[in-house]
Amino acid sequence: MPLDVPALLSETGALLTGHFRLSSGLHSPSYVQCARLLEDPGNAKAIGRALAERINPLEPRHIVAPALGGVIIGFTVAEALGAPMVFTERKDGVMTLRRGFALEANEPVVIVEDVVTTGKSTRETAAVVESHGARVVGYASILNRSGSVRPFDRPYEALLALSLETHPESDCPLCRAGVPLDAPGSRYSAKR
Ligand code: ZN
Repeated sequence: MPLDVPALLSETGALLTGHFRLSSGLHSPSYVQCARLLEDPGNAKAIGRALAERINPLEPRHIVAPALGGVIIGFTVAEALGAPMVFTERKDGVMTLRRGFALEANEPVVIVEDVVTTGKSTRETAAVVESHGARVVGYASILNRSGSVRPFDRPYEALLALSLETHPESDCPLCRAGVPLDAPGSRYSAKR
């Protein structure tokens, strides 16, 4: 059975509805909490396999994922490919490769994320990979919320492009209707 990501999003409670302020500052009636999509290890493995199939032609020797969001999906993609996986993390705000993780000179690497929106942490991870002498040959994420099919300068694969309704704070129908604002990051409850 092919993987139905939109169905999984609603079944797992990953797609929230309400009134949210996104990191961009825009308001939206929906929010995606990707961690819920990966809560069941069976789903995480199935999604990892589907994404691994897409990036297999790039022949990565290492998967690199930014913590925390990329870790679970990076791991299941790597498992499906039979490749090792390392993660980058922020130290004093700067993306770094720690814990004794190393990359070989010139080895092909694919960077895996849960969601790409602005692509900022993904690009920072690419810079870390290159500073360690390896080569970024592509990018992959479960969801593409960047609004572009080609947000990076290398091949990019996503299982689902998702554009959600957004409004500027100055012209938000939910604000006008007096709906209380949820702040993603502080409260993630799908049941309200
Ligand atoms: Zn609003």
